Amino acid sequence: MSASTPAAGAPGPSAPSTVLVVEDEPTIATAIAQRLSAEGWRVEVARDGLAGVDAALRLKPDAMVLDVMLPGIDGLEVTRRVQAEQPTPILMLTARDDETDMLIGLGVGADDYMTKPFSMRELVARLKALLRRVDRAAQAATSPEAEAPLAIGEVVIDRAQRRVHRAGTEVHLTPTEFELLVMLAGQPKTVLTRERLLAEVWDWADASGTRTVDSHIKALRRKLGPDLIRTVHGVGYAFEPPSA
Ligand code: CA
Repeated sequence: MSASTPAAGAPGPSAPSTVLVVEDEPTIATAIAQRLSAEGWRVEVARDGLAGVDAALRLKPDAMVLDVMLPGIDGLEVTRRVQAEQPTPILMLTARDDETDMLIGLGVGADDYMTKPFSMRELVARLKALLRRVDRAAQAATSPEAEAPLAIGEVVIDRAQRRVHRAGTEVHLTPTEFELLVMLAGQPKTVLTRERLLAEVWDWADASGTRTVDSHIKALRRKLGPDLIRTVHGVGYAFEPPSA
């Protein structure tokens, strides 16, 4: 849908990714910027919500690290405004371990979130995984070797176009939600553990992140309907549409 930048062809892995950091706390902003620069990324920092929206629309960053609590407009509103103009992968930083905040964040178009305090190592790992997912999405969209769509019950997943329909209606998913759905739907009626989903979708081996999986499953259920993904308490999730 975003045809603003020609993602076709092979831009090459050498082009550094641009990451926009929107964070009003100077020590955190500086620490993040230094660490991401050290990873070889181009980094720009905005210190409030409106400046963040302006910078996002001007820079068209490959990803954003966005604090929720910001002066002016908050991170949720920043996400809404940016996603309305141009789809951008967003890793949201939340101050509290508050699932409502996370779900609203995922609902307005953030791809992933981390709860403060976090380690820079984890931030880098999450961002790398996010950029890989976005990369895979871009490659899939331009690949002539289209994989056949996956159809399970009312759900049709077009892996080449990265589009999902339920009962003929298109459902818009973020790259993270899409990969999570493909993992589950690729093995219907099979329970996948949260640890496995975390490792496969997030490339994140530390099981401390399993609540991330739970939040994204909730976001998927909100978009696709509550009856497709079964929770196996204490274990994981299984894709089991009623009509399949
Ligand atoms: Ca803040």
